[in-house]
Amino acid sequence: MSTKVYLLYYKSRLPVWSASFNFHSRVSCGENKYIMLLKNYWILSVIILLLAGLTNCQTEETTPVINIDARLLPYFERFESEASARGIEAPITTLVSGKLAEVGGDVVGQCEHYTNSPNVILVDQQYWQNAKEFEKEYLIFHELGHCYLERNHLDEKNVAGNCISIMQSGQGNCRMTYNYSTREAYLDELFN
Ligand SMILES: [Zn+2]
Repeated sequence: MSTKVYLLYYKSRLPVWSASFNFHSRVSCGENKYIMLLKNYWILSVIILLLAGLTNCQTEETTPVINIDARLLPYFERFESEASARGIEAPITTLVSGKLAEVGGDVVGQCEHYTNSPNVILVDQQYWQNAKEFEKEYLIFHELGHCYLERNHLDEKNVAGNCISIMQSGQGNCRMTYNYSTREAYLDELFN
C-alpha cells in the first residue's frame, strides 16, 4: 500500500492532498505504523516537489539567450574574452544581438540602441563575405564599442597621424592601422 501512494506523490501534486485525507480516515482503523510511514513520505514528497520547483526557477533564470548570427558569434566571443582579460566580466553575447543584413550605402556596420531589449549590431552581408579576418574583428569590436561599451567616436591621432582608437569614425583625418603589432594597444585603449 505504501509503495502505491509513494508513486502517486511523485507523479502529481493533486493526489498528495486526496491521499492525505485517506490517511486521516485510516487513523481510526488503528494502522498507526503505516500511517506514520505514509506521513513521512508525504513530508518528503512536499520537500522534493519544492526543491524541484526551486531548481526549475533557477534554471530558467540562468539560461542565457544568445541572439547572434553564427558567422558573427566567434568575434563577439573574442570581444568577451578580451574584455575579461582586462577585468570586465560580463555575458556580452547575451547582452547584444548581432545580425547580417543588407545595410546599404557605404555603411558596413551599425549599432542600434534599444531601451527595452538588447542593442543590435547590423553587419552588411556583402561586406562580411569579402572582408579579411582583421577587418571582421575590427568591425565587430568597433560596433561593440558603441553597443556594449557605450562609446562614441574618437578621431584623435598621434604624432605619426595614426588613429589612437578603433572608435574612429572613418570620416576623420587619422589613419587606421589595426594589425598584429597594434592590436594589443588598440584593445587596451578600447576597454580602458
Ligand atoms: Zn562607429
